Amino acid sequence: EMIAATNFIRNMIIQQREAGQQQKVITRFPPEPNGFLHIGHAKSICLNFGIAKEFGGDCHLRFDDTNPEKESQAFIDAIKEDVNWLGFEWTGEVRFASDYFEQLFDWAVDLINNGKAYVCELNAEQMREYRGTLTEPGTNSPFRERSIEENLAEFNKMRAGDYPNGAKVLRAKIDMTAPNINLRDPILYRIRHQEHHQTGNKWCIYPSYDFTHGQSDAIEGISHSLCTLEFEDHRPLYEWFLNNLPVPTKPVQTEFARLNINYTVTSKRKLKLLVDEGVVKGWDDPRMPTISGLRRRGYTPKSLRDFCDMIGVNRSGGVVDIGMLHFALRSDLEHSAKRAMLVLNPIKVVITNWEEGREEMLSSPSHPAREELGERTLPFTKELYIDSNDFMEEPPKKFFRLAPGQEVRLRNAWVIRCDEVIKDAAGNIIELRCSHDPDTLGKNPEGRKVKGVIHWVSATHGLPAEVRLYDNLFQVESPDSDKDVDFLEHLSADSLSVVEAIAEPSLATAQAEDRFQFERVGYFCADRYDHQPGTKLVFNRTVSLKDTWAK
Ligand code: ATP
Ligand code: MG
Ligand code: MG
Repeated sequence: EMIAATNFIRNMIIQQREAGQQQKVITRFPPEPNGFLHIGHAKSICLNFGIAKEFGGDCHLRFDDTNPEKESQAFIDAIKEDVNWLGFEWTGEVRFASDYFEQLFDWAVDLINNGKAYVCELNAEQMREYRGTLTEPGTNSPFRERSIEENLAEFNKMRAGDYPNGAKVLRAKIDMTAPNINLRDPILYRIRHQEHHQTGNKWCIYPSYDFTHGQSDAIEGISHSLCTLEFEDHRPLYEWFLNNLPVPTKPVQTEFARLNINYTVTSKRKLKLLVDEGVVKGWDDPRMPTISGLRRRGYTPKSLRDFCDMIGVNRSGGVVDIGMLHFALRSDLEHSAKRAMLVLNPIKVVITNWEEGREEMLSSPSHPAREELGERTLPFTKELYIDSNDFMEEPPKKFFRLAPGQEVRLRNAWVIRCDEVIKDAAGNIIELRCSHDPDTLGKNPEGRKVKGVIHWVSATHGLPAEVRLYDNLFQVESPDSDKDVDFLEHLSADSLSVVEAIAEPSLATAQAEDRFQFERVGYFCADRYDHQPGTKLVFNRTVSLKDTWAK
């Protein structure tokens, strides 16, 4: 069993309940539909949906769609699919922050009417200058003291489309000298003549993230608004809006640390760059740390959920070792993946003391510990393939596999001995002539010990398979930690290699996304898109086995 680490938010809710605060737990997962979800989002999904489930509450899926130029329906569809695939169902319909645009507009008008918002015409550069710095207070905008009437007229003209992009913004009137820069008259609305995937051309002004997020939480009655630590500095503003607007409920924001994993990047902007630059074949390329990439690679939903339990939820950052993700994955696949044999680097073996045309249909359990998964048939024939790495012409002392004059067991079959090595004119080994000991099926050979066991496939019945061997995209632990070096410089040159392998015949019926442990080779998954049962076998290497076979 996987050990779950501390989840301070869960503990907080338990304490709240013990203190008699029995309010219903309502959380939300609020992605912006400007890219695919990544493994970092999985942490947020498991947290929000997990908490709701545990405490008998609800979890909403809400798209934070306030930047239409970067967003799309395709991203919305992909995100919904990923959340479901991870094993979660949101409560009610999918929600959109854009559902609340009319209400947000009315609330902006309320702020103007209360003298708490104004239309500002400073350009971006001036705005920066007036804002001040961490050590210097800001300066009031010259537009700050406009009359309520003028502000209302201007804001309505902004909405009516009377001004070009960037000409004016609506700002909250809070405090230009506040130590927290987010409170220095933040922007509430900007002009964007841009069609929106949900609202079409209804709007040419769009609310800022800060003006949208907390109020959307309030409209939905969110009890616990969970977000990552970079929003900690926004919390006073989040609360300012809730305290200065007639919102129906007052959600409470709690921040937790983002998930970072070594040897990869978890930033949508950087992942988008990998896609746009053609480094990978798309957002769901099996090398991507996106949920759909991990899925295509062969990760199980359970392994990702277990991983999120293992890392826990806390307020201090840090980088999680990718080995932990692999551990969660192997732990699940060890139990769930069927076994099969596949030879990656085939070399032919001819069994000289096997009659021409004779076929034995051997069988083997699909899983060593799970009888209910049934058996598969392994035809044994005169010509077989083994992996060329399992043969050495001049082996070192502890090489327990095949070598001239040396015996090895073929897994689930007989013990064979290599009698002769056949080479071509150039000296390359093209065939191994071996003899089998007919008295070794399911029993030890008489009078000697054979330590090694290797995998094999019948040359007559084996099926060609395309195997995609994936490795880390980056060759360094923290590709994006050095501000002076572009993270793309750290890409690994061999994150993908494609080989033609020979698969055992039972794999003809493998369906797309079926997962296997190819014995002694690793865990693999039939490619979600390119694999065609019976016609074109394509397997992605999900993760290697632990080195338990290395001797
Ligand atoms: P990115 O920086 O990659 O674009 P984001 O935070 O802008 O990520 P959103 O779509 O806004 O992406 O994220 C939706 C939710 O997922 C937010 O609540 C966000 O805090 C959370 N989230 C995003 N990245 C991580 C991460 N690495 N670890 C934990 N939670 C994350
Ligand atoms: Mg965001
Ligand atoms: Mg972002």
